Amino acid sequence: MCFAFSHLTHAHTQNYFSQRLTQASLISSCSSCFADMEAALNRNVLLRDLNEHITCFICAGYLIEATTIVDCLHTFCRSCLLKRLKAKQHNCPRCGNLIHHSHPLQYIGYDRTLQDVVNKLVPNLQKRELRRESDFYDMKGMKCPRLEEPDVKTETHSTQDHEKAQDYHRSGEQVQISLQRTDTKLDTMGKPYLVCSVDATIKILKKYVAKKIGMGPTQHAELDILCNDEILGKEHSLKFVLATRWRSKSQPLLLEYRPRAVLL
Ligand SMILES: [Zn+2]
Ligand SMILES: [Zn+2]
Repeated sequence: MCFAFSHLTHAHTQNYFSQRLTQASLISSCSSCFADMEAALNRNVLLRDLNEHITCFICAGYLIEATTIVDCLHTFCRSCLLKRLKAKQHNCPRCGNLIHHSHPLQYIGYDRTLQDVVNKLVPNLQKRELRRESDFYDMKGMKCPRLEEPDVKTETHSTQDHEKAQDYHRSGEQVQISLQRTDTKLDTMGKPYLVCSVDATIKILKKYVAKKIGMGPTQHAELDILCNDEILGKEHSLKFVLATRWRSKSQPLLLEYRPRAVLL
């Protein structure tokens, strides 16, 4: 069961969509959800029943750049959530849980699986949203904030990366990890077990693995790291992986590495 659908019951699945959906468009979204989907696809189901799971609580629109809070697993548009955080509102808009008092950005993560599902269900969503917004701001003679957002994001990321480089996550909560190779073309790690901060990202872990198995310093991008057979995004923190991919299973967290899959 993939993360995006893990909070939906079987009854939900059977009542889903507001427009008929083609089987082909859904098969590619997540093969492990296929059994649930197949049941749903045989019914003329309604998208409005699914809406609460694919819309943002803040703006009430379909999720754009779905971003999930690690602790409570509530999901919002990235820009909607960032606006709140910039205004120093560090609580989940939905349940009120504190995200983090000083570093909330490290406790939210892009939810690629859920966004893929939204994009499949609502074709051309991002293009339409952007056009709608930019028309609105054009009418008012203003610049569309979302069009300016890439700068903000780059800045946020580099500040985060910088902070991470500074302390190497030596303080705070730790996680035990077992890292195994799935491809014999790669070397094994001498010691497959390690303990590191839950704030470390998959990108940092890739750099660590690359170094340990004798790859060049810039070759970490040639690796995939997987949890339960799912490729993990490089921006995800281990805390996010534990909460969304590993749930309450005991440690060590079992991860696998392999050469990066090339999509045809
Ligand atoms: Zn939103
Ligand atoms: Zn919440």
